[in-house]
Amino acid sequence: MTKQEHDKLSEERGQTEIILEEMLNEQQYSFSILGQEYYKKVCEDPDILISNLSDYVDTVKVSELEIAKLEEDIKGMNRLLKEPLDLVCSKCGRIMDPNAKYCSECGAQLEKEEQDINCPNSHILE
Ligand SMILES: [Zn+2]
Repeated sequence: MTKQEHDKLSEERGQTEIILEEMLNEQQYSFSILGQEYYKKVCEDPDILISNLSDYVDTVKVSELEIAKLEEDIKGMNRLLKEPLDLVCSKCGRIMDPNAKYCSECGAQLEKEEQDINCPNSHILE
């Protein structure tokens, strides 16, 4: 092989590797869709479960529950984060209702803290 042929082949290999990588990614995507569809069918009809795939089906079931729980947790946190902040008396440190004007313990005037109004999904953009 001449130097020129070597370089040409080397370049061709690089391009072929890129195409291979793309094909593998596409195949991976198709496999995941296939898996999702199979999973849906198995949930409807457990009889079609292929026994050596049962671990994966169980793993997906567990992760679905965990994901649902985490999504609920985040919803709950978003609700709490949107509520007005309790006021802390700067004199005695007691925690007062967000609407209170004066501390019910020591009578000091309460100042409202600035509350950031954040989009509940703003963390996704960070
Ligand atoms: Zn107070």
